Amino acid sequence: MTGTGLATELGRITQLVDEASGGGSPLERQLSFLSRQLIWITLVLAAAISAAGLSAGRPVFLMVETAIALAVAAIPEGLPIVATLTLARGMLRMARHNALVENLAAVETLGSTTVIMTDKTGTLTENRMEVEQILTPSGDFSIDHGLASIVKEGAIVDPSADPELMQALLIGVLCSNAEYDRHAYSGTGDPMEIALLRAGSFAGLDRKQQIATFPEVAEHPFDTATRRMATIHRTGDHHFAAVKGAPEEVLAAADRIGIKMEPLDEAERTTWLRRGEELAARGLRVLAVAVHPRAIKDQPVPDGLVFYGLVAFRDPPRGDIPETIAALRRAGIRVVMATGDHPSTALGISQAIGLTEPGALVMTGAELSRLLNASAAERQEIVRRQIFARVSPEEKLQLINAFQREGEVVAMTGDGVNDAPALSKADIGVAMGQRGTDVAREAADMVLLDDAFSTIVHAVREGRVIFANIRRFSAYLLSCNLAEVLVVGIAVFTGLPLALLPLQILFLNFVTDVFPAFALAAGEGEGDVLDRPPRQPNEAILTKAQWLSVAVYGAAISGATLLALISSIHILGLAAEQATTVSFVTIALAQLWHTFNMRESGTGLWYNSVIQNRFVWYATALCLVLLLAGINVPLLSEMLEIASIGMNGWALALGCSLLPLIAGQLWLASGTRRPAIGSHLKVKLNEQP
Ligand code: ADP
Ligand code: MG
Repeated sequence: MTGTGLATELGRITQLVDEASGGGSPLERQLSFLSRQLIWITLVLAAAISAAGLSAGRPVFLMVETAIALAVAAIPEGLPIVATLTLARGMLRMARHNALVENLAAVETLGSTTVIMTDKTGTLTENRMEVEQILTPSGDFSIDHGLASIVKEGAIVDPSADPELMQALLIGVLCSNAEYDRHAYSGTGDPMEIALLRAGSFAGLDRKQQIATFPEVAEHPFDTATRRMATIHRTGDHHFAAVKGAPEEVLAAADRIGIKMEPLDEAERTTWLRRGEELAARGLRVLAVAVHPRAIKDQPVPDGLVFYGLVAFRDPPRGDIPETIAALRRAGIRVVMATGDHPSTALGISQAIGLTEPGALVMTGAELSRLLNASAAERQEIVRRQIFARVSPEEKLQLINAFQREGEVVAMTGDGVNDAPALSKADIGVAMGQRGTDVAREAADMVLLDDAFSTIVHAVREGRVIFANIRRFSAYLLSCNLAEVLVVGIAVFTGLPLALLPLQILFLNFVTDVFPAFALAAGEGEGDVLDRPPRQPNEAILTKAQWLSVAVYGAAISGATLLALISSIHILGLAAEQATTVSFVTIALAQLWHTFNMRESGTGLWYNSVIQNRFVWYATALCLVLLLAGINVPLLSEMLEIASIGMNGWALALGCSLLPLIAGQLWLASGTRRPAIGSHLKVKLNEQP
């Protein structure tokens, strides 16, 4: 029975993993596509060359050997191994930067991120709230935290002399899940609720005492859809509800105001909404507080609330955010804010951190929902905005969808349980390690251990470097393979001795190519990877430009090798086996030196990421030792069928092997650097002039 259970469980997990992995990462798919292409090209080439050789009357055995050599030459055996290890190393490096990446594919996707969608509270701001102002029907109060007092018109007031102020503070103390220690000046729970308890303590209100007086019989927890929270309390023989929430929600449900419960007409409601807007425009988070005098214990709080005022909280932006925003802008990545908070608060904070210019437009969740069902042209408006306020978690999901439809690669930060769907929908879901919920962490692709938004920048940088390195060593390996194919093919066509033996090619592909490739994969990247736009999401590992350089370098290396081969016969008068050894040594050395052609064009001859990469030097030294071992260690040299080539042979091989390096450096020197500035983003931001 256990066996069956285990089998089923294993089967289910396997199925889940299969579904999740969806046929490998884009990189894996591209790599396997590349190998398939190469296999076909090789088969065709091998067949053509064998046929040509056979019809020219060359020995069948030689042709079979050549066909095998070609097949071995064309397949970059090291490529998948180096690629996987590069991604794994990337994961490790990101982890050291406090970014825990859950799967290899995410490492690579990070590098192509074009949009980062972030929440506000806790990510862009500190989530350390303080009550700054309390507006009640009896007047405007502010809090002096230094003096632990409540101030009106510049003077400290006795709160207990103002029943409306006391009532507003009491609601904040009752409608809460937090706990506060007046002596420690700190508490546990939602930072906003802690701030309310602290403000209450300045008026002598203590939650435990108040709960003893007004026992809590039920709670309607805060809901991101209704944006309010209520607790039901007993007093005497009936129940009342303490309500707090977004001003527009609370005011819409209120029809009376203040201790005298005077009617709240439409004009006055609008006035209070406007006052809330004014507070929000200063970047403050605003709550309305109200009471329902006759609530029923287990039922939703009906309309007919009595409104008692507005409470405004300050939540300072995190210190490193402006810098991070600027860095992301230079990197061509657009930061989009999606928050449940008020549009004016969102705008206020976004200006404070340099995310938007004054006059930027905010889109609300309601507007978003409307546009999502509108025509394609109207939907365009969505992706032109940068700030989205009063959005629900479901709307965040649709927002991601809208950006993805425009071809953007979206990373999204979130911490709540209801952020989980959006986190999985995003190309890169980013959860917070300290503050976030387990559900959010599980749905995410990356967890920020230090909760710092700036860590995303490190991760993006690492992702870009990794992609550039994969591109670099792929180009390296493929140009080496192409050179081998050309050397073997041309030698056969032109009636030269076999230029490389199958085992020699295997030695090149598994030994002398792989270590430089690893070294290139371990490079730190160019210093300015974050000052360039992201790559196109669907951009291939090797673009036309890379294929061109593969072709040029392949031709250069094979040209130099054939030159050595021909010279060894016609100038040095070496025998066929010796000539083969000369061409083997030449191509092995040429491929080693070729590593230094892998710097980016436009970077300095001496000052570039390849020369500064110490692994490249280690790999070069190691490969030289291995090559010498292959030639001089008896067993190995027999396997590789090495013949003695003498000093002249070595000099010839060494001289010719340097030619591709010289040619490459000349070519690189003539190249220009890619433009550094600009974004590929197809749609422009929509900001008021
Ligand atoms: P954010 O994107 O800043 O995390 P939320 O979805 O948490 O936004 O909050 C949206 C709005 O809901 C807030 O602006 C506030 O008006 C209200 N709100 C948030 N938390 C609470 C709470 N605990 N009790 C009552 N209302 C709340
Ligand atoms: Mg929140």
